[in-house]
Amino acid sequence: MVVEPCRCTKPGWCDRYKREMTPKLFHLCQTNEQYRKLWDDKVNGIKKKPVKINKKEKEISTTKKLSNYRKAIVKWISAGRPVRSDEEVERIYNQFCNSCEFKLNRSCILCGCKVNKAKSALFNKIKMATEECPKGFWK
Ligand code: SF4
Repeated sequence: MVVEPCRCTKPGWCDRYKREMTPKLFHLCQTNEQYRKLWDDKVNGIKKKPVKINKKEKEISTTKKLSNYRKAIVKWISAGRPVRSDEEVERIYNQFCNSCEFKLNRSCILCGCKVNKAKSALFNKIKMATEECPKGFWK
């Protein structure tokens, strides 16, 4: 299925998706068809088909989770502890992680990190501005 390209010329209000596009979102809209499809579906009221996966089977080991968490923390501290705003965290959580097929018990089963609305980056991967979704759903 072909997804129409982004028609905006700069960040700001987008009539197509009825939302404010930050420079980051504008860039994603310009370059990532998956995002446009997701936003088109949302605007048109189309719900994502639930994907049947065995979450327990996909979940990574505790050792790997700890290793990923350590790497994320080191990267975040080295970058000067940049954080996303609470609003941005809430938006990402509500739009992507909350209904994601890869979320299990408040964690992402692909990386093992906690994904929630917590304001502390130490307990929430979304809060760390150095982290992104392993599936590319958000950056
Ligand atoms: S980080 Fe990405 S893959 Fe993991 S739960 Fe969130 S949206 Fe899903």
